[in-house]
Amino acid sequence: MSTRLNAIVTGSTSGIGLGIATAFAADGFNVMLNGFGGAKEIEAIRAKLEDKYGVKVRYNAADMTKPEEIRALANETERAFGQVDVLVNNAGIQHVSPVEDFPEAKWDAIIAINLSSAFHATKAVFAGMKKRKFGRIINIASAHGLVASPFKCAYVAAKHGIVGFTKTIALEGAEHGVTCNAICPGYVKTPLVDAQIPDTAKARGTTEEEVIQKVILEAQPTKQFVTVEQIGALALYLTTRNAAQITGAALQIDGGWVAK
Ligand code: NAD
Repeated sequence: MSTRLNAIVTGSTSGIGLGIATAFAADGFNVMLNGFGGAKEIEAIRAKLEDKYGVKVRYNAADMTKPEEIRALANETERAFGQVDVLVNNAGIQHVSPVEDFPEAKWDAIIAINLSSAFHATKAVFAGMKKRKFGRIINIASAHGLVASPFKCAYVAAKHGIVGFTKTIALEGAEHGVTCNAICPGYVKTPLVDAQIPDTAKARGTTEEEVIQKVILEAQPTKQFVTVEQIGALALYLTTRNAAQITGAALQIDGGWVAK
């Protein structure tokens, strides 16, 4: 595209979302940031991206458990940039526990943030994309959208769900220039992964170091973490005209995890 694209990246105050927002801004996109965090830290991220890359970067604090706030995020982005060309449904949380102890509130929150928010955000921007005959929806699923691990029932259910949602939206957008794909990362060293190490150690009756070596890196044949820059580059590619025929895909970026 010769014109500047306008993107929403949910959950972009940290980790993978921030990596994608950075890749987009570096390529000249206007970006709407979203996610939780301290006001000062978020403003520093916003101002740095805007200054460094000379694009518009805004922030909206929508809570992804609240459909009305998700709709307001889409509306604010349209007001700020004119239209939404790219939507990245990235916000997500994790909880690790055996199913018999899994708190109901965590199940509900994971399904809301990791799955239902993508529906609400897609619903809010889809008509405009179809009308303009161009749109890119990118759902950050997981290797856990394709295979399971124990003690992550809500996360694995939500991520498998979003792979199915991706396929449906791809079919609905197929004749309208709108693609929808899922990116399925393996382990990426972000706060989400750091936070689950102690609970995984507890659930498996092992040490935190053993979890890193035997559970996390053991899953990935390359024995390396995926980086947020690698995911940002893949997401950026999916927004291009060359990626127009990639739709409904669940793209693994997992060091060979699900090939095993
Ligand atoms: P992270 O914890 O670093 O970032 C999560 C982001 O989501 C943050 O910006 C946070 O503020 C935001 N968020 C959480 N709850 C929210 C809510 N209710 N409303 C709005 N924003 C909310 O985690 P991450 O590792 O960067 O994860 C990003 C996505 O990538 C998630 O969907 C996750 O499931 C997926 N993923 C992560 C990994 C990994 O190994 N880190 C692997 C595969 C998939």
